[in-house]
Amino acid sequence: MKELVGMLPDEMEQFVLSLGEKPFRARQITDWIYKKGVTDIEMMTDLSGSFRLLLSHNARVTLPAVTKVTEAADGTVKFLLELADGAAIESVIIPDEGRTTLCVSSQTGCALGCAFCMTGRLGKRRDLTAGEIVGQVLVARDYLGTRGEALTNIVFMGMGEPLLNYDEVRRALTLILGDRGLSFSWRHVTVSTAGIPEGITRLGKEVLVNLAVSLNAPDDQTRDRIMPMNRKYPLDALMAALAAYPLKRGRRITIEYVLLSGVNDTEDHARALVRLVRGIPVKINLIPFNPFPGAPFSRPDYGRVLGFQEILISAHLNAIIRKSKGGGIAAACGQLVAASSTRGRSGGNENGTA
Ligand code: SF4
Repeated sequence: MKELVGMLPDEMEQFVLSLGEKPFRARQITDWIYKKGVTDIEMMTDLSGSFRLLLSHNARVTLPAVTKVTEAADGTVKFLLELADGAAIESVIIPDEGRTTLCVSSQTGCALGCAFCMTGRLGKRRDLTAGEIVGQVLVARDYLGTRGEALTNIVFMGMGEPLLNYDEVRRALTLILGDRGLSFSWRHVTVSTAGIPEGITRLGKEVLVNLAVSLNAPDDQTRDRIMPMNRKYPLDALMAALAAYPLKRGRRITIEYVLLSGVNDTEDHARALVRLVRGIPVKINLIPFNPFPGAPFSRPDYGRVLGFQEILISAHLNAIIRKSKGGGIAAACGQLVAASSTRGRSGGNENGTA
């Protein structure tokens, strides 16, 4: 039984040929799935009845099952989803300033163990397939469609490190961006990474897409402490990959920086950050830490956050303080899954940035 969601257009053509049909049938199938949101093969009415029967005996269209939907007062919607093997993942719709962004997961859990992130505490369970990644988009689009709303942006910023599941993320991007898929403009799609240099380099060569990096520290000593993956992928390699990342005119790499009181939020850290990103076109999102039960960090007071931002702005950097979204519904990566998998442990955070 072949899974049709996640199949690339040329693979779909080969599959249709193998069933004895003309290649153009592949386009009809992808249009039903990606353009019309139809997942029931019987409803694909421009296919002959006999082909629909043959297709349904040889293929299926599977989307993640929605097990819980939680909506916050600010419009943020969090989905807890179950995959075919029972694995739980989550994705979040974030409405903001005229955009409606879906934050998708690329792995179940995450192996990188950032100290400020609840997903990191879950560990990695497995990589998602391209179909499971694109399936999150289809689920969210359907949900918004029932409310007369449209999905405008996608960020790979949910559970997992997308560049450590490169091949499936690459396939998912082909379907998200392609005209035989979901036809999103690359301007509206962002891959967010904790900083895997070889993945950044490969992505820059292979796909036109926005890049965000969860940096969180301007020096290896601090970064080693809060992002253990930095010991394997230190800052000099990361910054070299960012400096070489191809950008269209006027575009910038987004730098995510979670501010942790007394850890990475001093004026010296801000000045070191200015030096670190010098010469690289960036915009910096400052994210005051959102504490969760048991978290080993606290949130800096607002004056300190403003002081940090001021140093960046004085150095002519584009730096904004990011609003926290989804208050009250545990809207950050890993939180719903953590709560459900630990029977009521209400852990989690809004700090997962890769
Ligand atoms: S912040 Fe991102 S990379 Fe770090 S543990 Fe969380 S999900 Fe993984």
